[in-house]
Amino acid sequence: MSSATANNTTRVFRVVGLPGDGVGPEVYQSACQVLAVMDELFNLPIELDGQLIGGAAVDATGTPLPQATIDACKSADAALLGAVGGPKWDNHPAEQRPELGLLKIRAEFNLFCNLRPIVTHPALQAFSPLRPERLIGVDLMMVRELTGGIYFGKKWRDANQAEDVCRYTRSEIERITRAAGALARQRKGRITMVDKANVLETSRLWREVVSQVLEDEFPDVSLENLLVDAAAMHLLTRAADFDVMLTENLFGDILSDEASMLCGSMGLLPSASLNEDRFGLYEPIHGSAPDIAGQGKANPYAMLLSVAMMLRHSLDRADEADALERSIHQCWDEGILTPDLVPGGCSTARVTEAVCERLKPG
Ligand code: NAD
Repeated sequence: MSSATANNTTRVFRVVGLPGDGVGPEVYQSACQVLAVMDELFNLPIELDGQLIGGAAVDATGTPLPQATIDACKSADAALLGAVGGPKWDNHPAEQRPELGLLKIRAEFNLFCNLRPIVTHPALQAFSPLRPERLIGVDLMMVRELTGGIYFGKKWRDANQAEDVCRYTRSEIERITRAAGALARQRKGRITMVDKANVLETSRLWREVVSQVLEDEFPDVSLENLLVDAAAMHLLTRAADFDVMLTENLFGDILSDEASMLCGSMGLLPSASLNEDRFGLYEPIHGSAPDIAGQGKANPYAMLLSVAMMLRHSLDRADEADALERSIHQCWDEGILTPDLVPGGCSTARVTEAVCERLKPG
């Protein structure tokens, strides 16, 4: 998409579009429509370069992350992903599993910093399994280290034993702490670091490095330490007390899914995975939802909120990100919701149209 309204001084952003599988292409289509309208309204020229990932890539090329996709990302400002996976590829060999495409793209582009904003909205409180009084004022940012720890450590297994090594280096912890510190500074200035320092040596290193980096470089940011078992409980009892929650890969994986329930539906939560050059992979947290794929009822809000994150974190267009979020919140206030939230709810296309209609400069 290139803008007819773009003048010579307007930078054209390059974004790799990765629709993927299942509902991925449906919510990706919604993002394309919204970006086209935003280009007209805000002079936001984005060149979308559609590429393959996941099962669609396996079918077309035999691999879940083709070289063409990697090459396209190398010269792009950001990538926008729908979702990957589905029963069709469940019995494929390990190197042809769609999810491997995701792990590979994270490793290839060093996407070490995973962000998941958890913000409750009054119009959606009824959809959370938690009591409404526990949801008031929740606005926390989960910062998860994404390329280290036990998921990437040495692994082996024989008939009777198995081992997964959890390893972290000082520099891996320093760079994610700096990312969390910078975010905390733009927010309420508080970091809660989650670990298991009463048992794990890696957690003790995390504690030492995080407190050192914050003391030296972010003296204005406060630090609270919480053990992961306690954090799991506190997220359900006092989520509104948290600002930035910083943690390692495994704990972040589990806690961010738990925290997503504060908001009510998988279809509502965006995410960003960033590297040190501000290139980011933006995607909804949900999967390919094969049970509803092709029916036009996928919830596109998580994808559209991922677009807002992309505008803010990789494209430096915070005002436009705010405008998109305002339009989404207005739709929520008006009850424009998909069938995963309300029986007989609106289609993906109707929600997309409604978001576009409410977009206006701030
Ligand atoms: P899922 O997130 O796809 O679906 C879980 C439930 O949430 C389903 O009932 C689904 O209908 C619903 N749901 C998910 N997204 C929705 C949306 N946008 N609108 C409305 N309802 C939505 O998780 P799953 O069923 O465990 O996994 C399905 C496939 O997705 C698997 O192959 C899995 O490996 C893959 N997966 C991919 C990603 C990713 O691409 N990042 C993440 C998780 C799972």
